[in-house]
Amino acid sequence: MPELPEVETVRRGLAPVLENATLTEVQVRTAKLRWPVPKDLAKSLVGDRVLGLRRRAKYLLMEMTGGGVAIIHLGMTGHMTIWRETPPPPGRHDHMDLLTDAGVCVRFTDSRRFGALLLDHRDTITENKLLRNLGPDPLSNRFDGQELARRLKGRASPIKAALMDQRIVAGLGNIYVSESLFRSGISPKRKSGTVQGGRAEKLAVAIRGVLADAIAAGGTSLRDHVSPDGAMGYFQHQFSVYGREGKACPGCVCDVEKTGGIRRLVQAGRSTFYCTRRQR
Ligand SMILES: [Zn+2]
Repeated sequence: MPELPEVETVRRGLAPVLENATLTEVQVRTAKLRWPVPKDLAKSLVGDRVLGLRRRAKYLLMEMTGGGVAIIHLGMTGHMTIWRETPPPPGRHDHMDLLTDAGVCVRFTDSRRFGALLLDHRDTITENKLLRNLGPDPLSNRFDGQELARRLKGRASPIKAALMDQRIVAGLGNIYVSESLFRSGISPKRKSGTVQGGRAEKLAVAIRGVLADAIAAGGTSLRDHVSPDGAMGYFQHQFSVYGREGKACPGCVCDVEKTGGIRRLVQAGRSTFYCTRRQR
């Protein structure tokens, strides 16, 4: 499932071909993904110029000169491909093509259909029900140790669960929560309310660092044309703890034979990976 760094990588890959381009044709082939695709989506985009491609948590927002804002979510399996020459005939999972005045086709593909194509307007977008309750984006200026501490104060839930709550921080998922907690030396089981002061500062820095590293790794794997197996925006990142149960964590001095290495813990039905020695 794409997490924030993957979505940001997709945004950075698409921005050069979409921003300032006029959409000469928009082909929507699917009536419903996770939610119904608005019937007037194609009509309200075509003929307009793309003002900007922004990201809010894991949503891509394509802002048009006419005021329309297309909302794109990649869901579990969604991806975008850029075709500078005629694209192949669309398959059954190719839900939308955006054609620009530069002759480029941007295609949205999603085999499991948990993604979304929605429409809003610049005057109402901040009140959109998918976006209005989201906490600060961890990569934005609104996010730092103080802000994080304020949002965690008084909470009894484990810090892992709090960081997965999109109202506290927007866009973090299972992988990067595990990685951030490891980097900051905080146990996933620690009561969120106790993550204050210097500890919250350390965690905020770790979250931003882990995301920035992943985006930097993804940026190098950006490609225009994509083989069926590797879509733009998905990349194998080197994780410190995620998916590494039983192995030694990076820089660990403990004897894995004795300690059992990285531990996997199931919290709220999701796996958390952590080191019992280095995370308190
Ligand atoms: Zn360790």
